[in-house]
Amino acid sequence: DEARTSYVARNPKSLECFRRAEESLPGGGTRSSIFIHPFPLFISKGEGTSLLDVDGHEYLDFVSDFTSGIYGKTNKVLRDAIVTALDNGIQLGAHTPFESRLASLIRHRFPSMELLRFANSGTEANLLAITTALKFTGRTKVMVFEGGYHGSLLSHFEVKKDQLVEAELVEEDRKNEVNVLTVPFDYLVAPYNDLAATKSLIQANATSIGAIIIEPMLGAGGCIPGDATFLRGLRQLATDVGAVFILDEVQTARLGFGGRQKTLGITPDLCTIGKFFGGGFAFGAFGGKLEIMQMFDSRRPGAVSHGGTFNNSPCTMVAGATALEQILTEPALEALNSIGDDMRDSINAAFKSLSAPYIVTGLGSINQLHCTLPGKLKTAGLDLVFFRLLERGYWIAQRGLISLNFAMSQSDVDGFVTAVIKVVREMQDLV
Ligand code: PLP
Repeated sequence: DEARTSYVARNPKSLECFRRAEESLPGGGTRSSIFIHPFPLFISKGEGTSLLDVDGHEYLDFVSDFTSGIYGKTNKVLRDAIVTALDNGIQLGAHTPFESRLASLIRHRFPSMELLRFANSGTEANLLAITTALKFTGRTKVMVFEGGYHGSLLSHFEVKKDQLVEAELVEEDRKNEVNVLTVPFDYLVAPYNDLAATKSLIQANATSIGAIIIEPMLGAGGCIPGDATFLRGLRQLATDVGAVFILDEVQTARLGFGGRQKTLGITPDLCTIGKFFGGGFAFGAFGGKLEIMQMFDSRRPGAVSHGGTFNNSPCTMVAGATALEQILTEPALEALNSIGDDMRDSINAAFKSLSAPYIVTGLGSINQLHCTLPGKLKTAGLDLVFFRLLERGYWIAQRGLISLNFAMSQSDVDGFVTAVIKVVREMQDLV
């Protein structure tokens, strides 16, 4: 409470902005995921890896816009490419060579995407992938996983007791946390990383499952890596029952040059990406097997129509292609992910030696701080670290996400590690 009170006192201008915003926007904003209780900070400018808020505080950004901000807040290479694209026409309403340039760069990294289509968000890409899979198979059921997040309209799935032979109950405190709008597909919710239970659910619905969609690491669900045996087994099960296996790599694509699918040696039937592949602009893409994706070929009789005013926006295409060619390179990704691995190890080693009720999970540059205390103490414990880090000039997500970006230096990360450990040690001293 004290940390929250001091947050309120430190940020009068943000509160003023919030009051104005809530006159037109429910809850003062248009992205629930970035809301901060009791009110969010309002940012006036970003540069490199720094954020400046309207009250004049500067923060080092360890959220990186929930992984999409991998390029940092400003990037000269991207800026120059985007300005040139803007000067050639903001929106052309026609095909441009940039569209296929970006598609071919993506295909090179993700051979599973034999053909692909663009959209405007990860949510849209996943909605398109699922509906494509159902159309292709002529089936109705969509298998999703507990804790999975596939976008604003595809989230907060929980295993229902009667679905499984031996259902695992979800944690009490995870239930009813948030109400969400979820597109009403005919879902089967399976427990993540539990191959045996998932297998029985698949076998019981073998002829009706059209799509199985999964993140290779739960992202919004807490940065819980998918077990290799589980993911490979699931790939095989999908083949066995004739369901389309969709890998949602919207976040995890940055964990390696060919995403997590390359590391694991898994070839999905369809794959979805988004976030950073638009070079900082709104982006989504879905793609996969030729035999599925060619249904969108307008030359074919009975071709499926897929529109979208901004699907091939020239600025996005140019920004994405420039990013892939010059910034999101294999060595750059490897270096950033290795910094992330070291960061997670250092923080966890310190938590362990302090016997602190915290742990960081994740892979490479995408991580999540968890408080291991039970019930409401969990949220309070996370909040305390969040507000104390803000006071020290470090910005993480209130739910604990810590995501790195290319604008950071090793010393930024070292400073962050020291700050996290200090904050937790001070809390231990208080208790
Ligand atoms: N899929 C995953 C795994 C995500 O993490 C997200 C967003 O966080 C999405 C899909 C949705 O992407 P968007 O926010 O661009 O709609």
